[in-house]
Amino acid sequence: MAKPQQTPLFGRLAVIGIGLIGSSIARAAREHNLAGSIAVADASEAHRRQAAELGLADAVHADAADAVRDADLVMLCVPLGAYAAVAAHIGPALKPGAIVSDVGSCKQSVIRDVAPHLPAGVAFVPGHPVAGTEHSGPAAGFAALFGGRWCILTPTPDTDPAATEKLRAFWAACGSRVEMMEPRHHDLVLAITSHVPHLIAYNIVGTADDMETVTQSEVIKYSAGGFRDFTRIAASDPTMWRDVFLNNREAVLEMLGRFTEDLIALQRAIRWGEGDALFDLFTRTRAIRRAIIDAGQETAAPDFGRGAASPTAGSAAPAAAKPAKPKAG
Ligand code: NAP
Repeated sequence: MAKPQQTPLFGRLAVIGIGLIGSSIARAAREHNLAGSIAVADASEAHRRQAAELGLADAVHADAADAVRDADLVMLCVPLGAYAAVAAHIGPALKPGAIVSDVGSCKQSVIRDVAPHLPAGVAFVPGHPVAGTEHSGPAAGFAALFGGRWCILTPTPDTDPAATEKLRAFWAACGSRVEMMEPRHHDLVLAITSHVPHLIAYNIVGTADDMETVTQSEVIKYSAGGFRDFTRIAASDPTMWRDVFLNNREAVLEMLGRFTEDLIALQRAIRWGEGDALFDLFTRTRAIRRAIIDAGQETAAPDFGRGAASPTAGSAAPAAAKPAKPKAG
């Protein structure tokens, strides 16, 4: 685990949207002494109350403009569909020299929605911590969520390099491994590694739910056959994932096209009894699983999402978040 900073990296941190990711950032900032003070804002009264009860911030606001007014770093942690309105609202309240960043799961749409609303003298460093769980809200967050996980920064040609460096230091202090990427490339990579897998999970669970010849109770009873792994992913937040698909449309459709072609090839192989083709693919995919474990992004333990924490979720996960198995968002 990263050592706490001697002096905070930022004077005041403002987190807009104190859900799973926003509250994890607030917790990590506290734990690693990354900000002198923390202000949060959220549209949900219940979440604001929870944030105050959990002691996640020094100040909790209903109006995002009030939270960002004196902030040196502003982290946008709302669903993707809310970015444009939030950016338009806070733009006039940002102080000169502030850095605005975010955690959105797609980057081209965030740049499109946020950049036009930021005044001159404010730096914009889009980012995406590739870490998450299927839970939502302030109680679901935990400081160790980002430990050992990648955080991808996608600065634009206009981004001040000094601001990007400060963001890199912030995420490194949270325990993340930081990488730079072109926004378009980010969206393609995440389409295949995160967005399409979520769509497949939503689809397979939906199909099982619609079946008439297999009963609900049988689906639940025999779920250990692989289905329950999909249900964990398909339990992810509906608002967040609706917005991901609406905002990363091109990349998801491109990857879905490839996926569909490959699925039809598999269908043919099964129909024509081409066992070698099936065996070769399954051998190749097994090696990918091994590579992910070797890279420290997963453990080999067969807990199917129900066991204790991941190698990095660790002791800081609150009881409510314990059953959650980290995943990328
Ligand atoms: P979450 O737990 O639902 O938190 C989002 C919070 O923002 C909620 O409290 C929500 O309130 C609030 N909110 C919504 N609209 C708002 C507005 N206009 N102004 C102020 N607050 C508003 O969601 P999350 O999982 O933390 O996701 C937040 C962002 O992180 C998304 O952009 C997502 O793409 C990204 N991300 C998520 C994951 C993941 O695995 N979950 C991983 C990486 C990145 P209500 O609940 O009342 O709407």
